Amino acid sequence: MTAARATVAVIGGGITGLAIAFQLLTRGVHDVVVLERGQMGGQAMIAYAGLLSIPGTGRLDDPLSSLGMASLARFPDLVADLRERSGVDPELRPTGALYLAMTADEEAALRAWLPTLQAYDARCRWVDQYELRELEPAVSPLFRGAVLAPFEWQVLSPRLVQAYARALVLGGGRILEGTEVTGVEAHGDQVVGIDTSAGRIAVERVVLAAGAWCGVLGPRLFGVDVPVGPLRGQLLRFEARELRLRHSLYRGELYIAQKADGTVAIGSTEEAATFDRRPTGAGVRSLATFATDTVPALEHAVFLEALAGLRPLASDGLPLLGQLPGWRNVWIAAGHARNGVLLSTITGVVMAECILGATPTVDLHPFDPARLVRRYGARDRSA
Ligand SMILES: Cc1cc2nc3c(=O)[nH]c(=O)nc-3n(C[C@H](O)[C@H](O)[C@H](O)COP(=O)(O)OP(=O)(O)OC[C@H]3O[C@@H](n4cnc5c(N)ncnc54)[C@H](O)[C@@H]3O)c2cc1C
Repeated sequence: MTAARATVAVIGGGITGLAIAFQLLTRGVHDVVVLERGQMGGQAMIAYAGLLSIPGTGRLDDPLSSLGMASLARFPDLVADLRERSGVDPELRPTGALYLAMTADEEAALRAWLPTLQAYDARCRWVDQYELRELEPAVSPLFRGAVLAPFEWQVLSPRLVQAYARALVLGGGRILEGTEVTGVEAHGDQVVGIDTSAGRIAVERVVLAAGAWCGVLGPRLFGVDVPVGPLRGQLLRFEARELRLRHSLYRGELYIAQKADGTVAIGSTEEAATFDRRPTGAGVRSLATFATDTVPALEHAVFLEALAGLRPLASDGLPLLGQLPGWRNVWIAAGHARNGVLLSTITGVVMAECILGATPTVDLHPFDPARLVRRYGARDRSA
């Protein structure tokens, strides 16, 4: 066993767990270990669009929107820091986004939303079909206009994961892949050890960051009911080097994003309550139809792959960020749903602050796990 002792053990090596471990490291906690039963990166390894877009309603009083904007604002400094520490470039790009309208109803809904976006950024505006054609000539002429949101960015999510992981390991942290957490040893309300498929690790503090699996691990490891489950999403990738899309393109929940290497990501479906990570015929068909309806030139693009992942969704749609009820030295960060890449920056920061006993830099009350997590009865410590 290479990690028989750790100051902080993070259960789950997705982007949430890695971001928390990295922020702990930058605050002096070098003895941090990330335990991942598969390969690090989790769902972020397929979130190729890497959209850093405003979550929630976008209203100033929407806690999820505020959290998202706080996270977005930190990306430039974080990425510069990660690049320097790791030598890996996560490809942060200020692409801006276009929210497209084809029908009169879509236009009315987007125009009604515009003042909300303008409260965040006065540059947001409606562009008519002529300007749309100038901004994005490849978009279908059937669209009547779009809302332009210049503040939205893109990142290359798998690269962001690699940057976090490399910076973490180079700084002295540990990532144990292929290591499943199977149980915990507790003294009263304190966890003192974690049982894994590679042996036991003595720990001082624990973070549960196991994504959609928190709903399974909560009862099994900690005797709490954690209402977080999987929201499956599918995504297609094409190669289209002759195409040049400058913005992220949205229509409703679906989007198209071209990356610096010319590949194009088309996402993403929403399918509730399944742990199956295989793409389906219906998912592929709906995304391919949306892609070619929106950017007809994609008819000629080379199909690369279809992917599916499990977004962690809490029962009220908001992330859980804070102490796990009933436990003195366990914290949880889960339920980031469609926004886990965007929220990774602020999540890492506020969770490190909580774990180290500092006051979080943003108000975490709306995300308090105690609003949803219930103590469950006697703990069964084998997962
Ligand atoms: C198709 C798709 C596109 C997306 N696009 C975007 C986007 O453009 N922008 C954005 O912000 N977000 C996007 N997301 C959402 C984002 O990817 C997720 O919110 C985020 O990756 C969740 O990260 P996580 O670390 O919380 O969970 P996960 O990535 O699920 O990580 C949890 C990890 O815990 C591990 N684990 C589980 N049980 C155990 C155990 N017993 N022991 C050890 N390890 C365990 C799992 O193997 C997993 O690796 C997208 C998601 C999908 C599916």
